[in-house]
Formats: sequence, structure tokens, C-alpha cells
Amino acid sequence: MNRRSLLLCIIVSLAMFVVPALTFPGESESVTSLKKTDGLYYPPVIQKGPSGHKVIHDRMTFIEQYKYDNWSPEQAAKGWDKDEELWKKFSWEWGKGTVPIQRRPMQVLDGLFVLGPEDYQQNTYLFDTGDGLLLVDCGYEKFRPCIEIQIRQLGYNLGQIKWVLLTHGHSDHAESIMAYIGSGADAYLQADEPGIKEFLAAVPPEIARKLVLMHDGDRLSFGPLPVEAIHTPGHTAGSTCFSLNWQGTAVLITGDVVLHFGRHGSMDEGSDWNHYLASLWKLYNHPRSGEWQVILPGHSTIDLENGRESIYRVLQVTSEIIRRRRAGESLDWLNSYQLFYELRLKGELEIEPLKN
Ligand SMILES: [Zn+2]
Repeated sequence: MNRRSLLLCIIVSLAMFVVPALTFPGESESVTSLKKTDGLYYPPVIQKGPSGHKVIHDRMTFIEQYKYDNWSPEQAAKGWDKDEELWKKFSWEWGKGTVPIQRRPMQVLDGLFVLGPEDYQQNTYLFDTGDGLLLVDCGYEKFRPCIEIQIRQLGYNLGQIKWVLLTHGHSDHAESIMAYIGSGADAYLQADEPGIKEFLAAVPPEIARKLVLMHDGDRLSFGPLPVEAIHTPGHTAGSTCFSLNWQGTAVLITGDVVLHFGRHGSMDEGSDWNHYLASLWKLYNHPRSGEWQVILPGHSTIDLENGRESIYRVLQVTSEIIRRRRAGESLDWLNSYQLFYELRLKGELEIEPLKN
């Protein structure tokens, strides 16, 4: 997870804006109708996660779970990161196809895709709303060609992207935003994200008209798709999650706020642990939290069931970090798989989350 702020994003993005090639190469600007998906994509590789519910693992997390499930205490004691042999073993298995692994573009649910480089733990989501495409966290500029090719591969046209929704302003989620605005999409940004005022002041009026600032509780509409914005500061001041219903399945898009099995967003000078904890409780106690099944995080493994449990795991891990910090330890990261492994050895899998 790259730590560059929105301000740096602005510089990169504005630099792109002054370059003439704002439209996508080879793209017709007149295309407005939505083509039915008839392209090529990979189906999800659904496995059972450590909590017993269905997940779609990325490679790194697949190996984390293998260690969690299979390693002896002696092996773990040599170092949790000493897993080169596993990477070799599974590289052979993946290569031979005897162990399946997710590939991209991947369809998670009908008309909902994950895009981006296959071996990079960054998730860009594409929703076919039936009345235009919604892109969530468009990602690094350097990966835009890959994402564009995948969109075309799915049978869509880049001119069909009507909206780009950002979970927060970090460059690994937001850097390529100006290119999509340039090709006609509206961009949805968080009003509380650092640098947003400077960004608005710096862009020309024709760009400013394409920007929508979001606030907590906003009910957004992407064609026929209603989405609720839930402001969840902590990782960044503007971090926002999005609750929606996709063809009968309750989904929460979480950016870097809630990740699989307790993995938490990385924290830097723009982050706030107390705000993060409060945001996790806000999600956990949200009126729809019992309905959320699928968690779509900004990175790595996708949880397909029991979304509220994923929120609880992050509550546990962040609480553990905050407790240790309050006790004087200098700590801003815990590997959740390693933490839960070590707690299980001690017979103490449950961590009581801090209330505040
Ligand atoms: Zn981030």
C-alpha cells in the first residue's frame, strides 16, 4: 500500500491533464450505449478461509492461510516470513494448474469484476450497472493500460465508464483518476480527504464540474444502482466505505479500512488510530452490518460471506495494536495471520475489542 497522499496525486494528475492525450488510445468518444458483456473473464476461485467462510484468495494470502493451517510451532518459530519454500512449491502447483488461483479479469458476481495486474495485491472493481460502468479505485497510472485492456477484453468500451468512485486518495487507489475524467467519467471524492480543497482550486472549471464531493450518509446513484457512503476516517481522514446491494447480495466496499481476516490499513502521519477504531465500530454497528456478505477490499483476499465477522477481526487486531501502543510499545503494524496463529497456540484466539 503506497503511502503517497492525495496532494502528490494531484501533482501527477494535473501533469497528466496538461498532456494532450486525455482520451484513451483508440477510443471513440461517441459511444454511449452499454454493450452486453460477452468478453473473456476468469471465474472466481472460491476457497474456504480460516474462519470457515468462502473467500477468493490472492497468492500471498493463500500462502498465509497455508501457514496458519499447517505450520508446526517449530516451523513458525523460525520466522513467519520464512516461507520461500512454500512460494516455490505453490509456484509449481499454480503453473501446473493443480492448485487453482485467481486470475484477472475475474468475475466475482454477475457483472461485477476485479481488474488489475494478476500478481499485484491491488483490487480495482468494475460494476456493469446496466446503464453505464462504475469503476471503483482506478489505481496507479502505471497500471491503467492493463486495466484498459481488461475492460476491452470484457467486451466493454472505455467510453462506457460513467463514474469512478474512490475509497480514499492514496495514489495506489486514485492516481489515474484524471484520465477517466478526461474521457467523460464523473469522479466521486471524499470531502474530508487531505488536499481536496487544493485539488478543487487547481483544476479547470470543466474538470471541477466532473467532480462530486461525498459526505457521510450520502445516498449516491450510479444509474439504477443506489449506494450509501459511510465515512470511516482513520486510515486517511476521508476514507469512505460503500454499502450496496448487488443482485440480491449485500456488499460493502471497504478500501483500506476492512481487509481479510483482520488485516488492517497501513498507518502513517495522516492516519489516526482512535478514529480508525471508532470507524470500525461504526461499521460493525451499522444497521445493515448483519446483511453484508461480500467485502470488497482495496487489497488482496475478497470475503464472500459473513462480512460483519471481517469487520470484527479488524476490530480485534487494531485493538491489540492500540493496547500495545498505549502501553508504550512503538507499533503500527501486525500481521493478522501471525497474530491469530500465535494466539491460537496459547489458546487465546479471542481478543476483546477496545470500545474506544
Ligand atoms: Zn490507503
